[in-house]
Amino acid sequence: MTIKPLIILPDPLLRQVSQPIERVDADIRKLAEDMLETMYEAPGIGLAAIQVGVARRMLVIDISKEGDEREPLVFINPEIVRSSDEYSVYEEGCLSIPDYYAEVERPASITVKSLDREGREHLTEADGLLATCLQHEIDHLNGVLFIDHISRLKREMVIKKFTKASKSKL
Ligand SMILES: [Zn+2]
Repeated sequence: MTIKPLIILPDPLLRQVSQPIERVDADIRKLAEDMLETMYEAPGIGLAAIQVGVARRMLVIDISKEGDEREPLVFINPEIVRSSDEYSVYEEGCLSIPDYYAEVERPASITVKSLDREGREHLTEADGLLATCLQHEIDHLNGVLFIDHISRLKREMVIKKFTKASKSKL
């Protein structure tokens, strides 16, 4: 397993739309392992392939509590097939926007259709943190970031800050 470097705001890759995975093969399973390892190392609770520079529709999630046994979840070609009318608010963060957190409102429960690492189809009923995390990560596959769900003023401030930081590193 390999820990991969994370793509950080304002890298334009984060705005790219990821492509569907046509065949779940050994390369895809290896990428899933690497993504899980990278997420655990960060540490984070979710990671989309584009965050390690791969524009394919795959994400990994583990929302188990610290100290509990790991519960790695892999979603390939995830698609939201149902969203509740009810909304909930969570404070979100993102491994590609380090140390920035903001409250985001999203549908409280969703159903997601996806493939697992064996290429089998699954329907996942999610609510609470898992629903939020899935929506956040699926957004990444469409080039959308959680800061797109906050006010324009706040978003512009964050982008400005990260753009400045990336330039000072050159
Ligand atoms: Zn994120």
